[in-house]
Amino acid sequence: MPESVDTRRLKLTNEERTEGVLLGFRCLECDTVIFGPGTFCQRCTSAKLEPMEFSQTGILYSYTVVRIPSAGWPGPVPYILAQVELSEGPQVLAELVDCLEDALEIGMPVELTLQLVQGEDSSAAKVVYKWRPANQPSPTAEVDP
Ligand SMILES: [Zn+2]
Repeated sequence: MPESVDTRRLKLTNEERTEGVLLGFRCLECDTVIFGPGTFCQRCTSAKLEPMEFSQTGILYSYTVVRIPSAGWPGPVPYILAQVELSEGPQVLAELVDCLEDALEIGMPVELTLQLVQGEDSSAAKVVYKWRPANQPSPTAEVDP
């Protein structure tokens, strides 16, 4: 059974491992919202954090085209690395798929999509989160050979 690439950031919500939600925290003192793991608020240092799940959509805040990926990058190159602002506030950095570079527009709506990435040994398949332009036909999980 494939697992989330990072269970502190992505919770898988169905048996097929094709749906999930991004995770984070909200500070109960100052309302700052954090994506991913946290033990204290980055703004006010309070440790009173409440876990939360984020919505599936955001807007393209910024992006870069990566032509030289880090070692072990399993996908095609070049790829679009998108900084996406969730409606709850925090920003999430991940690949933007199903979109040509020419079609990118700052502020465009994007939605979460999950992909299955095969690890080096076949038992190590991981589900990773990516962005795609919103309002497209629903995605299907892909398995890289
Ligand atoms: Zn705070």
